[in-house]
Amino acid sequence: MAVLGELLPRIQTAPPGPESRRWVDELAATECPALTQRRARRNERAGASLDPIVWSQARGANVQDADGNVYVDLSAGFGAASVGHAHPRVVAALNAQSSRLLHALGDLQPSDVKVQLLSRLAALFSGRAGSTDAGRANDDCRVMLGLSGSDAVEAALKTALLFTRRPGVIAFEGGYHGLSHGPLAACGYNSAFRAPFAEQLNPHVEFAPYPHRSADLAAALAAVSGALQGTSRVGAVLVEPVLGRGGVIVPPPEFLPELAGLCQRHGALLIVDEVMTGLGRTGSMFAFESSGVRPDLLCLGKALGGGMPVSACIGRTRVMESWRQSEGEALHTGTFFGHPLSAAAALATLDVLADEQLCARAAEVGARLLAHLTTLRAKHSRITDVRGRGLLIGIELDSGARALRCVQALLERGYIVVPAAADARVLALSPPLCITQAQLDGFVRAFEASLELHA
Ligand code: PMP
Repeated sequence: MAVLGELLPRIQTAPPGPESRRWVDELAATECPALTQRRARRNERAGASLDPIVWSQARGANVQDADGNVYVDLSAGFGAASVGHAHPRVVAALNAQSSRLLHALGDLQPSDVKVQLLSRLAALFSGRAGSTDAGRANDDCRVMLGLSGSDAVEAALKTALLFTRRPGVIAFEGGYHGLSHGPLAACGYNSAFRAPFAEQLNPHVEFAPYPHRSADLAAALAAVSGALQGTSRVGAVLVEPVLGRGGVIVPPPEFLPELAGLCQRHGALLIVDEVMTGLGRTGSMFAFESSGVRPDLLCLGKALGGGMPVSACIGRTRVMESWRQSEGEALHTGTFFGHPLSAAAALATLDVLADEQLCARAAEVGARLLAHLTTLRAKHSRITDVRGRGLLIGIELDSGARALRCVQALLERGYIVVPAAADARVLALSPPLCITQAQLDGFVRAFEASLELHA
């Protein structure tokens, strides 16, 4: 009998059920109103209640809500549960670590498990980003840990400034890198995110178009090249190898290599933000691998902790040395950076990724799903595009309103899907890499039914 993790949906009470609604009412009385969407803020465009369900349990690719409904999670909790929710090896590592050492003294007196994670990440990067000197493999890079994707990007932006002494950043329209001040200044996803805080943000950020197809490449590169030669003193180009939240856009294969070439010519650093795409999501450990590019700085987050908060900025040693040797006070630190529980979870997650061969699985299962969805596209005019790589797939519909209705209809059928792109036209699929074929087939059927319902 299938267990929680591999189940198809079981919806007993139309979501959101009474228990979820009770929790959301309580939440509405306490949380800052800008955060969770609730009934009072029902999205009129969608023409349906967008009240959230409230999660109470999750395992593998399944989520159970406060009313006992079981869902298949096509979001992996924003991509964090790549190895599956509550993977038993991650949970065991957390249990073992929590009974031994829950918290340490950060940069002052590190934990053994944090040191282990740093070594593992250095080896992972060096092994894949092509060390110039095989004998020095792990010495090729240095790692800074954080808690969120935002932290990793922030560390990379600071590093680029220290190394190049140039404050300018080129980012991309549609790009998303987190919402703390550094990454927010480079948020091309939606200018409304930046606007209220504009006076406090880095003014030296220029946005270039992100190429959706080969025909867009020349314009994107011309914009980058123009900015690099302009007066803004650009020290960093910050890019997602596949645009995630911006709508799951896979750029032409020449994009990253051309960007890397431009960076090299102009003395800027290439920061590759793989917070979403890294660690197997796109069918290889890192999305940059197929491009042959060696990022100067790599940002990881989300999937790294198997559901625990941990992120990393990994940089080439010659770049990271611009931070200089610590002389007592760490220039960049945080009480919980490198937290022992997160470090233990990350080590277990990296083991699971390797042992369960989840990169290869993402490539194989993702290609099948993409092919399946592509055949649906030929049948339904409402689907305007289907694209992606590995298990990061976007289904673009003909309007944001339809996409939001579809998300709601899918939820009612027991499938959790998150909309992407600023106009919400894209259903972004980033399921746990262990999702079963039966669960994916069920999703495709439910998606087709949801589309027809709103024809
Ligand atoms: N970079 C990318 C590419 C992301 O997708 C995200 C999160 N969606 C972030 C950075 C920010 O991560 P976090 O929300 O953990 O700060």
